[in-house]
Amino acid sequence: MSQIETFMQSLLTDTVLSMQAYHVPDAAKMIKLDAMENPHQWSQELKQQWLARLQEAEINRYPNADAKQLRQKISTVMQLPSGLDVMLGNGSDELIQVLAMALNRENASMFAVEPSFVMYKVTANILSMPYFSVPLNADFSLNVEAVLAGIKLHQPALLFFAVPNNPTGNCFSEEQLRAIIEASSGLVIIDEAYIAFTETTMLQLAVDYDNVLIMRTFSKVGLAGLRLGMLIGKAAWIEQFNKIRMPYNVNVLTQLSVEFALDHYDVLLEQAEMLKAQRRVLLQQLVDLPRVTVFPSAANFILLRTEKPAAEIFEALKAQGILIKCLANAHPLLSNCLRITVSTEAENTQFFTAFKALV
Ligand SMILES: *Cc1c(COP(=O)(O)O)cnc(C)c1O
Repeated sequence: MSQIETFMQSLLTDTVLSMQAYHVPDAAKMIKLDAMENPHQWSQELKQQWLARLQEAEINRYPNADAKQLRQKISTVMQLPSGLDVMLGNGSDELIQVLAMALNRENASMFAVEPSFVMYKVTANILSMPYFSVPLNADFSLNVEAVLAGIKLHQPALLFFAVPNNPTGNCFSEEQLRAIIEASSGLVIIDEAYIAFTETTMLQLAVDYDNVLIMRTFSKVGLAGLRLGMLIGKAAWIEQFNKIRMPYNVNVLTQLSVEFALDHYDVLLEQAEMLKAQRRVLLQQLVDLPRVTVFPSAANFILLRTEKPAAEIFEALKAQGILIKCLANAHPLLSNCLRITVSTEAENTQFFTAFKALV
């Protein structure tokens, strides 16, 4: 072992030493269908207006620490019920971390169903917060009995449910979530990252229950590069979490840009509608393919299971410049599963043509 390695081993926590960095594949020049990004651009005219607005940015100054103007605009545009406050994060990833840090008391634990969004577990690991999970049913619906038993056994302080769920694409039922929330003595976070692509929202649960907050993000509707996530809940909770949020976590350019985007929110929603229409087209094409199981989706991605080894199909697509997500080794319920982000008609067609030839 080199000198620096010995030195690091004597200082770094076991958690850091045992971890792998979150892997983001190199996607230069690829058709990117791996990360649920919105493929649509703004019109030239809108871009010009945005750039004009950015000229007002005072990048020599720290950002508005509580992003008051932006938070108000979000409340208005998203029609948040009165009584619910918003906290912003550098992506919802940061909000997951804030939540876990805030609730990481001695003997506290985090709970999620699996397969679901991996950052819940990753964050628990980073903070050495015990993490428990319960598998979904084979059709990816909630196994409510198992969830209730898990809650009873571990009494988790923090629970995450993504609706629609990533990577499975389905929504959990409100009735089932209510039963879980009512049985839980911990804080339940409903992650609505894909709200733009579905008809269901669980926002009312944050009004009805003191132990529920809603998380959303601008990443999936076209602003992934700006990094802005939202935690929506009763002001009393938000006030507590604000104590440990880094004061300038949302930068000047992001604040101005998202305010601008909210003034033109119809554009983003129209793009989401186009992706929903493309989802219908792609789902229909895929359903008609032999040797492929297609799972229904309420999000901007589709989960598939192939009869051939999924990893081989993934690699073959990659060799053709098409990047999707291989989930074959992510969870036992995801054997031979691939996840594709719904994109433009042209990109979807390119994917479908290549995929059809491979399966
Ligand atoms: C993509 C995703 C997020 C992360 O959003 P960011 O705001 O980009 O950090 C959160 N939750 C789920 C379920 C996601 O799929």
